[in-house]
Amino acid sequence: MLVSLDGFRADYVDRPSAVNIRAIAARGVRAERMIPVFPSKTFPNHYAIVTGLTAEHHGIVANVMRDPVLGSFTTRDTLAQSEPRWWSGEPIWVTAERQGVRAATVSWPGSEARIGGIRPTWWQRYDHDETAQSKITKVLQWLQLPRDSAPGLITVYFHDTDTDGHTFGPAAPETERAIARVDAAVGELDAAITRLGLRDQVTIILVSDHGMSPTSVDRAILLDDYIDLGTVDVIDWTPVGALVPRDGDADRLFAALSGKHPNLQVYRKGTLPERWHFNDNPRITPIVLVADEGWTITTRANHEQWIARGGRAGGAHGYDPALSSMGALFVAAGPGIAAGKTAPAFRNVHVYSLMAHLLGLTPARTDGSLDSVRAVLR
Ligand code: AMP
Ligand code: ZN
Ligand code: ZN
Repeated sequence: MLVSLDGFRADYVDRPSAVNIRAIAARGVRAERMIPVFPSKTFPNHYAIVTGLTAEHHGIVANVMRDPVLGSFTTRDTLAQSEPRWWSGEPIWVTAERQGVRAATVSWPGSEARIGGIRPTWWQRYDHDETAQSKITKVLQWLQLPRDSAPGLITVYFHDTDTDGHTFGPAAPETERAIARVDAAVGELDAAITRLGLRDQVTIILVSDHGMSPTSVDRAILLDDYIDLGTVDVIDWTPVGALVPRDGDADRLFAALSGKHPNLQVYRKGTLPERWHFNDNPRITPIVLVADEGWTITTRANHEQWIARGGRAGGAHGYDPALSSMGALFVAAGPGIAAGKTAPAFRNVHVYSLMAHLLGLTPARTDGSLDSVRAVLR
């Protein structure tokens, strides 16, 4: 059972409200933190966790992107969500279904498309307003199916910590209450496993996609101070900006932005740091901007609106995955998992290998390895 708590920063495990998550960690394994792929955004990372691939290899290079053939992709575009050509690699549910293990998803990026012709046996369209109770009910029904028809892999997703982390910031009481809500959901799922007598059969893996960093109205980079926004297509804004010059002159756009703001890193496609694995994909734009931690890339008009609305601080992610504020959650417990252990930080591209191993599946080729997460195993 793979549970995603969106935007649950690694250190939230130690927040007062995370009691159930800590209890699972205490009898299983907790990673110091899980390191996201670049960019530390929702879709690139959910899809990295289930494919074991970095964004340049799995193709979901952002939540919002453009492809020379397929056109535009957004998370709300149901057509894109079900178009397999956006989704490269082999998600764990495809590996499972191909090898006779059924999969059930309560939302996971990629699960709405027939990737390699295969969708999970149970899947659904994403519904942001679906209650935690409704999701839990579905999982409980799957857990109670007879052995020969039950899923071997279940995924379930909760958005609360990301939503409130953005609106109020990681330290806010509202975000603490979101931690309490997702922790309660996790507690219910965990209690059900015990109640149904499945403790020695089910491994629960709690992950998040990325962390959260506080933002401030005082940390804004105003793009139109440097370039005429009528001359570029801004595919994605912040904290990773994806820019295409309309006249094709990337050199000039680069020169207009590079070194102009001390907290804005500007890259030509192909020159991003090797450790980000973010160069080799047609969906990566000619110019990529990366804001420093806590900074927001915006426009003068939007910044003025932000101030007019009170200049309230919030939270953001997408920044350098090496930052501890971008660190994600990894907690696991179950029959194959070590007991009462803290594992050193590891990258999320290894989780696919771990899940394939636990399910007894022959894995696809990935950017990760089981050896990198041996510390998690009993
Ligand atoms: P982000 O902009 O990176 O913070 O994305 C978080 C948002 O992604 C959530 O609040 C959800 O609205 C959305 N989301 C998460 N999972 C899915 C999904 N499977 N399909 C569509 N949207 C999703
Ligand atoms: Zn997210
Ligand atoms: Zn988010």
